[in-house]
Amino acid sequence: MEKTDVIVAGGGPIGLYLAGLLEKSGLSIRGLEEHKGIGRPNHCSGLVSRNLDRFVKPRKEWIEHEVSGAVFRAGPSSVRVGKPGKAAYVIDRSRLDAFLADGLESAIELDVRVEGVAQGEEGDARKEGASHLPIAVKTNKGIFKAQMLLGCDGANSLVARHFGARPKKLLMGVIAITVEGNCSENVEIFLDKKAAKDGFFWKIPRGLTTEYGLFSSNADFLELENFFKIKPSERRAGLIPVGPGKTCFQRTLLVGDAAGMSKPWSGGGLIYGLTAARIAARTVIDAFQEGDFSEGFLARYERGWKRAFGRQIQAGMLGRKVFESSGNFEIGMGLRFLRAFSPLLNGLDMDFLVR
Ligand SMILES: Cc1cc2nc3c(=O)[nH]c(=O)nc-3n(C[C@H](O)[C@H](O)[C@H](O)COP(=O)(O)OP(=O)(O)OC[C@H]3O[C@@H](n4cnc5c(N)ncnc54)[C@H](O)[C@@H]3O)c2cc1C
Repeated sequence: MEKTDVIVAGGGPIGLYLAGLLEKSGLSIRGLEEHKGIGRPNHCSGLVSRNLDRFVKPRKEWIEHEVSGAVFRAGPSSVRVGKPGKAAYVIDRSRLDAFLADGLESAIELDVRVEGVAQGEEGDARKEGASHLPIAVKTNKGIFKAQMLLGCDGANSLVARHFGARPKKLLMGVIAITVEGNCSENVEIFLDKKAAKDGFFWKIPRGLTTEYGLFSSNADFLELENFFKIKPSERRAGLIPVGPGKTCFQRTLLVGDAAGMSKPWSGGGLIYGLTAARIAARTVIDAFQEGDFSEGFLARYERGWKRAFGRQIQAGMLGRKVFESSGNFEIGMGLRFLRAFSPLLNGLDMDFLVR
């Protein structure tokens, strides 16, 4: 392979989307994905607001269902928040990933696991004054060098670990699918602090099937299946990072789940990750134009994503703190309070709740 400008570690939706943006600007990309296929295993519910259209217009074949609202339940209390039209897609996430990969000219190299990061032969990438040296990644298939490294390698990011950047929390998401057809217009969220102390259960209508899920620090399948009394035909699980740490380093950016860019209240990470990918692409293109890969120059990326959705994450972390310290009684009261204001809540953007 010829010289590489940028290594993208991780062939998930964020790495693939970012690779596509960079490719269009003429940079040469080397995408590395540890699995043997794109989009598999699929850990994600694929519930995503219509803000997705700003990045990728979903094809009809990937849309399993569309919903217009969510019903929040806590014991006997409930409140519905929704929109007059359709608010969110329920997509087959693996098809989104496959679509993004198919649109790339440079093939993503599969079955290549990033195992380490170094600054050329000179040692540590964090070493001051070494910005003229390319960055190198060690993989199971050899060492690859480039001018920049983009860590898009998900919640357990090895690139983030190398730089000592970890999300504030790492929660678990488990999913169980049953073969009940379900075309409800609402997603349902079940709050029960005894069963999920720092998260919630959900039920998502997927058209031909129904998805049940649990998001919490100690989520497991048994708890999920007991809560809903279901016998699933399929089970999936994955980690969900909450609360980003530092996201820019010399020659390196962290983007998407690798950077902990999910909504702290729901764990959804697609819209923030795609938003950050756009800002990262602009920063990388500017860095190549200026020939400056220093952490100081790349800090414009971190300022950019914080301007775009930093306030949402801050408010979400605060909301999560209040939620974690509340019991079922307070949660029930909270829902009754929200119910009084539900006309104001209807129409809110599910990704950008605070102004
Ligand atoms: C149960 C569950 C349900 C979810 N539901 C939703 C939802 O409904 N809506 C929503 O918006 N978000 C949801 N999310 C979150 C969403 O899946 C993530 O935010 C999104 O996948 C982030 O994309 P990414 O590309 O940053 O990371 P990932 O999708 O995790 O992709 C990272 C890629 O990097 C690869 N990789 C990892 N380590 C290495 C390595 N060392 N070397 C090479 N490759 C590597 C992985 O194999 C993977 O392909 C859910 C998450 C979970 C766990």
